[in-house]
Amino acid sequence: MKCGFCQKAPVYMKRTSNEYFCEEHFIRYAEKIFKKTLRKHNMLSKNDRIAVAISGGKDSGMLLHLLENITKRRKNTELFALILDEGIKGYRDESIKYAERLCQKLDVPLHKISLKKEMKITIDELAKRGVKTCTYCGIFKRYLLNKKARELKATKLFVGHNLDDEAQSILMNFFRGDYSRFLRLGASPYTVKRKGFVPRYKPMINLTEKEIALYAALKKIPFYEKRCLYSFDNVRRDTLEKLNELDEKYPGTKQNIISFYEKIRKELPDIRGEIGTCKKCGEPSNSDLCKVCELLDFLRSDKSP
Ligand code: SF4
Ligand code: ZN
Ligand code: ZN
Repeated sequence: MKCGFCQKAPVYMKRTSNEYFCEEHFIRYAEKIFKKTLRKHNMLSKNDRIAVAISGGKDSGMLLHLLENITKRRKNTELFALILDEGIKGYRDESIKYAERLCQKLDVPLHKISLKKEMKITIDELAKRGVKTCTYCGIFKRYLLNKKARELKATKLFVGHNLDDEAQSILMNFFRGDYSRFLRLGASPYTVKRKGFVPRYKPMINLTEKEIALYAALKKIPFYEKRCLYSFDNVRRDTLEKLNELDEKYPGTKQNIISFYEKIRKELPDIRGEIGTCKKCGEPSNSDLCKVCELLDFLRSDKSP
């Protein structure tokens, strides 16, 4: 087999089109997909100050690498990285070192957020109490990344969700019947102007996990490979297993889910309306107490495990 664009040995085969790519043409292909997503959703504009949420992993590593490359040629765009330390020993303390190395290599400022400092709690402590860690961790992460990005005057918050993550989230919210979360998916924010929220974008959404892993390896992007030890959300795991089976049998299934979602989302109404503020912490919230204050109150109460 040879690369479909030159005579060199292939490093990648795209199963939806049976195309072969050598190293050079694979890199071009991956970058083209990324730039196309940026353009399609108007993700870059003048005078942007972009916060990139990184984890030390390959998805956000590739995201930061590509963005740095693009924005260094744009005089009126600033870039910085954010990482949340949830307090997971043997995982986050290790992956933070990779995030630091990458930011140093790219010369991008990195701001660390500590869950312990902000909420007086760590995910390790919650796990010991037998609490569903991912539920808390996800809500804390969203809240703190938005808060920090806003405080640092970011105009946009970019996250590294890939095609596999997104297809999985679309199906999972569908299975759970969670309409309001279902509306919040997609590459660009459903409602851009909501007071207190930094618009969140997902430019990696059209690249698969395998493509990202290959790109990161070829480009020598430092990344931490291990998964978090608390990733035991059963619905998420089962959804991914089924999705992988289907995509293996019918290549392109995951991409089709994303394309279909993008089409129907344009037709969906914005049911969320105006947003208020949490009476306790002042962050944006749909009710008197935001989800984070609600969870923290529960953890401090007698009912908490
Ligand atoms: Fe947090 Fe769960 Fe992700 Fe671990 S797997 S970082 S606990 S959301
Ligand atoms: Zn080639
Ligand atoms: Zn609150």
